[in-house]
Amino acid sequence: MKELRINRIVRQTRTEGFGNRYCIWVQGCSIRCKGCANREMWDETGGEIYSVASLIEDMEQQGGQIEGITVLGGEPFEQSGGLLELVKCCKEKGYTVILFTGFFYEQLLKQPEKREILSYTDLLIDGPYMEDKRDFTRPWVGSSNQKYIFLSERYSEKDLKEIKNKLEIRISKEGGVWVNGMGNINK
Ligand code: SF4
Repeated sequence: MKELRINRIVRQTRTEGFGNRYCIWVQGCSIRCKGCANREMWDETGGEIYSVASLIEDMEQQGGQIEGITVLGGEPFEQSGGLLELVKCCKEKGYTVILFTGFFYEQLLKQPEKREILSYTDLLIDGPYMEDKRDFTRPWVGSSNQKYIFLSERYSEKDLKEIKNKLEIRISKEGGVWVNGMGNINK
């Protein structure tokens, strides 16, 4: 069974894609975009290792509340083996799949394993974060160069019109604060 190196999991969120989603931030990204908000997810030796089986089991324990999985990070496609197994299992179980990547769709298509991952993906959001193109007017993305690529019939461009950007703030029992979602928090 394959594994993924992960920085964080939010078991149910409505700010990282369509509907209620199980969301995974993978650990490790070599792309190094200027202005990246997740620099703590660059180090490919950080985070914790999870088996794909344990992730699927955890999803199944969410009481049927989950529409699908969203994987972001970090760079999901730099852990292609684990990612492929994860998205395959998700599809078998009827979950939708949304993936974010700092690479371009066309680059991914050239590599068989990554192309196979895309065959199990409903929506890919591609392209690096570009500080000079910073823009929070569209859902879930931080810069205007990033593209929504609909790879199945499940979702479409018109579904995006219903969605507004929002932030979720979680406070742990120990007092730690975690913010996810997208929006201009400097305003
Ligand atoms: S691809 Fe994502 S995680 Fe990687 S540097 Fe760019 S914004 Fe950060």
